[in-house]
Amino acid sequence: MSQLTVGKDVLSYCGKCKLNLGHTIVAMKDSKHIAKVKCNTCLTIHAFKDPTQAKQNKTRTRKTSVSPSKVISVSDLWMEKMSSTKKKSTPYSMAGNFHEGDIIDHTKFGPGIVEKVVDDKIEVIFRHEIKTLVHNK
Ligand SMILES: [Zn+2]
Repeated sequence: MSQLTVGKDVLSYCGKCKLNLGHTIVAMKDSKHIAKVKCNTCLTIHAFKDPTQAKQNKTRTRKTSVSPSKVISVSDLWMEKMSSTKKKSTPYSMAGNFHEGDIIDHTKFGPGIVEKVVDDKIEVIFRHEIKTLVHNK
């Protein structure tokens, strides 16, 4: 790592240019901390502002402004569907013939509920994802 000394170029936030720009060190606090810098763009001498910290302050401002509309996750949906049915599960196979509301047991994805049937395809809600599978083959 290069030593910080007066006369060296560093990246600092310039309050006048409102940008992270190349600055020249004009004064040091100690061997590791820069006291003052001169903006190479507008030539203003000001206190050194760490550009990485300036960035963090900007992005930290808002976080909780997401609209409060309720998002139902796949697992919530799955839970709801599974608890509201009394059907027995059938092992899934491509040769099977499934209907809306059927419970299937998939060797890889586990138990799922047939949400929709479109020709030879079925849309199934599994615990972690919604999958389109084939049937009637
Ligand atoms: Zn400047």
